[in-house]
Amino acid sequence: MKDYYDILGVSRDSTSEDIKKAYRKLAIKYHPDKNPTNKKEAEEKFKEAAEAYSVLSDHNKRKQYDQFGTTSSNSTYSDNMDDIFSNFGDIFSDEFESFTEFGFKKKKVNRFKGSNLKIKIKVSLEDIYYGRNKTIKIKRMKLAPGVNFKTCENCNGTGFVTNITNTFLGKMQTTIKCSFCKGIGRIITNVSYNANEQGLIPVIELVQIKVPKGVTDGGIFKIPGKGNEAPFGGKNGDLIIVFKENPHKLFKREGNDLHTKLYISIPEAILGSIKRIKTLSGFIKVHIPKGTQSGKKLLLKGKGLPYNEYGYSYGNLIIHIYLWTPIKINKEQKIYFEKIKKDKNFVPKN
Ligand SMILES: [Zn+2]
Repeated sequence: MKDYYDILGVSRDSTSEDIKKAYRKLAIKYHPDKNPTNKKEAEEKFKEAAEAYSVLSDHNKRKQYDQFGTTSSNSTYSDNMDDIFSNFGDIFSDEFESFTEFGFKKKKVNRFKGSNLKIKIKVSLEDIYYGRNKTIKIKRMKLAPGVNFKTCENCNGTGFVTNITNTFLGKMQTTIKCSFCKGIGRIITNVSYNANEQGLIPVIELVQIKVPKGVTDGGIFKIPGKGNEAPFGGKNGDLIIVFKENPHKLFKREGNDLHTKLYISIPEAILGSIKRIKTLSGFIKVHIPKGTQSGKKLLLKGKGLPYNEYGYSYGNLIIHIYLWTPIKINKEQKIYFEKIKKDKNFVPKN
């Protein structure tokens, strides 16, 4: 098992600021561009540090790691160097001048990527239980037909121009955004009439998605490449789907367990009974034992929500039993209950 604290060289009780500093130091040290002679080894070290940082910089993941020595959650950590830059590049703000080269690289990586599309979809507990398919309508930006582009000649596609000016202090070098292409490095040569200045038009598309079994409220699912197309022929953005769970009439969710209420009559509580109970997978018969108290909970193992796609394990269904008391009774019933009211057996006991 990897010791993330060891990797970053920090103690277990270090603050998030310490962790950030340690990671920044290592990332600068092992950045592949800074280690041309042992690139491979440096890259490994760099990735290792990024992995450790991805866990220890996240409050929840760190807590889980401290407790279990692992993080079970789907880590956002990626092995791809470009992703590492875009995920953690922000921490190398301008305080580190030696890293301007790095920062520049990050910009270059992202420049031709389309933006991500984020949509919320509402799902029922049944959708979550069965992992149902859904068709969703999205509006994404796509390259308009007939759009062409070429490398900007003013900056040779870098997006930046360097000027050298003579001042009384000597030569000064300034790098500014290319004004021809606005820093994009490419120029549209043929725009279709309805496209925007990046050559994109909005298109309505239908996308088939499958609700992940057991997904939590607010859970996220990413479809790579289904976001907006990139201007100038770059990489598409991603489609990010956020699942919002609709409240259910019968069930209250608690993790993967479900809770439901069941009212039984006074005779049923005394004599016991068989009740038909609705679960997400259909009706089942439940035995109510005789002498059941109001407030009793019955646990139906495995009748909750699935933990994953494979259906190996499910949460439980917890039935909360309430006694139903009639509001009106007839004369005969009144006499009957008056009689048993005095019976010692009916006096509540702890
Ligand atoms: Zn340019």
